[in-house]
Amino acid sequence: MTTTDNALIRERLVELIQLQVLYDRLYAVRARQGDLPQQIEDLRDKVSTLQHALAEVGELIRQTETEIGALHVSNDSLRDHEQKLRKKLEAVRTNQEYFDIETEIKETRLTIEKNLQDIRRLQHKAESFRQKYREDEVKLRELQTRIAEREQRLEAIKQHTAEQEVQLLEQIKALSQHLQAQDPRLFQLFERRRRSLRGGKAVVHVIPTERLEGRYACGGCYTLLPRELHREITQRDKIIICESCGRFLVDEAFYMEVAKSMP
Ligand SMILES: [Zn+2]
Repeated sequence: MTTTDNALIRERLVELIQLQVLYDRLYAVRARQGDLPQQIEDLRDKVSTLQHALAEVGELIRQTETEIGALHVSNDSLRDHEQKLRKKLEAVRTNQEYFDIETEIKETRLTIEKNLQDIRRLQHKAESFRQKYREDEVKLRELQTRIAEREQRLEAIKQHTAEQEVQLLEQIKALSQHLQAQDPRLFQLFERRRRSLRGGKAVVHVIPTERLEGRYACGGCYTLLPRELHREITQRDKIIICESCGRFLVDEAFYMEVAKSMP
């Protein structure tokens, strides 16, 4: 490998570290929003479930009220009928006729009574539906208040961080485009690692192990690194990837140096 090659690889390593530092800054800015967006989304789901339930209970109330109304109408005409029968009773001539009309009056009364029982039962049912409706309405208002409160907090955080986020995204875009033009495979590798690994850490620096003097581990998965590999890492002229987790490995001083040099 020539000195020029080494210098180029070192340049790529610097860019990888820079890209990682920018992403770390971006994640930190976004972390300030915490789980507020998720909380808001969960609350919105609850609101939509509750609104659905409210519509259903509202429909049940209407249906029950319609049934009650129909029974009242039916009883009104049954009472009219009873009145007519009683009048007829005054004018009957035979016992048979009297008996027949009396029987019809009794049956009419029974139907009226049964209808009244049904009305009471349905009114009871409608009242429990209305109770449920009122309770759900209270819950809905509480949820909406909680959403509004969280949205306000999120908005305040966003206002503070929006500018920083835009700036970081621009820097990331510029550096990504540069790296992609220089070495598309390397950039793809970085992106894949960044998207799939915990905390979006594609580039880590090695860390000294506590138990073994002079030995180093991957700063991402803490796998112990062979001495020879660590020596190569400190040369800073090779792209080295952790065999265990796939992260790009650099030495700590190098990482810090690059991070500090960034505005
Ligand atoms: Zn690792």
